[in-house]
Amino acid sequence: MSRYTDANCKLCRREGQKLFLKGERCYSSKCAIERRNYAPGQHGQARKKQSEYGIQLREKQKAKRFYGVQETQFRNLFDKAAQRTGKTGENLMILLETRLDNVVFRLGFAASRKEARQLVTHGHFTVNGKKADIPSMEVKAGDVIAVKEKSQSSPKFKEIKEMSITVPAWMSVDVNKLEGKVVAMPRREDIDTPIAEHLIVELYSK
Ligand code: SF4
Repeated sequence: MSRYTDANCKLCRREGQKLFLKGERCYSSKCAIERRNYAPGQHGQARKKQSEYGIQLREKQKAKRFYGVQETQFRNLFDKAAQRTGKTGENLMILLETRLDNVVFRLGFAASRKEARQLVTHGHFTVNGKKADIPSMEVKAGDVIAVKEKSQSSPKFKEIKEMSITVPAWMSVDVNKLEGKVVAMPRREDIDTPIAEHLIVELYSK
């Protein structure tokens, strides 16, 4: 399966909003959205009227890109969300939010979800004391996510120990121990990702 390797900023420009794919740069004046907030390509600045389908499709693409999830994986998550009780769209957002790579990012142990995915794949984390190197792993309430002891001396994680980190209400973090906990499963209102998930539900219901 191919992963998108072209400039990440083009993805934000295509969606017309920041997807925060590049860590610190996203918060600086170097951010491409600050400088060129129009779609990439020759016709990027042309005004286009979007169809209903087009709007729904863009929302799905935006959600995939925010969380760095491929099409098949996204569809599988949607099906899983549909099988659960409650609203499918909200279930989908919760499933995306509780992926291990997103949790590592939310805990402040990585500057972006992309970096979080890389750190997880490289085996720097444990969940409940056991090695966890699968970015898509679903975390649950009560799970403890920690930087592996061996990795704690790396400059990257030493730097984090000096930082003051604010985490969402459904998590707690102990920066000194490089350890975080999922205190409770997130509710939709705890998730600040600007996605109109009902559009994705409408798209997949066609
Ligand atoms: Fe998106 Fe970050 Fe690039 Fe800005 S700097 S366009 S938020 S990836």
